[in-house]
Amino acid sequence: MRILVCIKQVPGTTQVDIDEKTGVLKRDGVESKINPYDLYAIETALRLKAHWPEATTLALTMGPPQAEQSLREALMMGIDEVALISDRAFAGSDVLATAYTLSQAIQAIGDTGIILCGQQTTDGDTAQVGPEIAEFLDIPHATNISAIPECQANAVTVQVDLPTTEETIRLPLPCLLSVNKGIHTPRLPSFKRKKETREVAVRRMTLADFPDTDPDHYGLNGSPTNVVRIFPPEHHVTRETWEGSSGELAGRLCTYLRDAKFLV
Ligand SMILES: Cc1cc2nc3c(=O)[nH]c(=O)nc-3n(C[C@H](O)[C@H](O)[C@H](O)COP(=O)(O)OP(=O)(O)OC[C@H]3O[C@@H](n4cnc5c(N)ncnc54)[C@H](O)[C@@H]3O)c2cc1C
Repeated sequence: MRILVCIKQVPGTTQVDIDEKTGVLKRDGVESKINPYDLYAIETALRLKAHWPEATTLALTMGPPQAEQSLREALMMGIDEVALISDRAFAGSDVLATAYTLSQAIQAIGDTGIILCGQQTTDGDTAQVGPEIAEFLDIPHATNISAIPECQANAVTVQVDLPTTEETIRLPLPCLLSVNKGIHTPRLPSFKRKKETREVAVRRMTLADFPDTDPDHYGLNGSPTNVVRIFPPEHHVTRETWEGSSGELAGRLCTYLRDAKFLV
């Protein structure tokens, strides 16, 4: 059985420019790192492996060729195998198309008992990819998981953080779990593992490897989202200084707030 972790490479800084014409992040030359939430998913995979001695761990990412760097880091943390999904056919994928692509890759890889995701990413931030993968694969899923108190041969029991309470649920395998930062402290990548895994090959996957090879189901063509415009928040800093008696100032402030539609 495989314990598969989905990881995403994200910009290492929040100072990323947006291409005004295309509305896409200008990622070239920007330092990248593993999405911080996915480090918790990697740590969970490594700990879960102890419950199924025959299990192997695999980290999967969809991204440009340089995303290999994140997979190498996952190997340095202790992951056994890594796979990179990269193909021009996937360019422009929205969340649904990304989840569909990942679900197709997971089917192609096969023998997956548990799929782990981070709770959300620090760039897209939708927290939708995990549950959507599970829906495409038609398997049970749970999000916001803060603990996995019990593992059985064919099921896991998880603790889910809800806004005002906690819920304990049991999911049969295969299933998908999105973990939050409360679950475990991620270990650091080790230099010893770096040396040991230098020769580990990255499995490369393209559209041709998938059960569904229809290009219309991927990338921009397979994305129902229509982004009208993306822009950095505009800052309006205007300052006015008023003088007068407190009564005059209060009246003026009231008029100002009414004109700005803050008061009716
Ligand atoms: C119309 C449109 C076009 C877009 N075009 C592009 C584009 O051309 N290039 C581009 O880079 N982005 C593009 N995006 C953004 C892209 O859709 C998101 O980066 C992607 O769907 C992941 O969403 P998220 O970051 O909100 O992930 P979340 O749902 O917040 O992530 C939850 C978890 O899912 C897993 N996960 C998420 N993404 C990946 C991944 N790629 N590989 C493995 N695991 C993952 C991780 O475990 C993560 O912690 C586009 C978005 C839209 C709406």
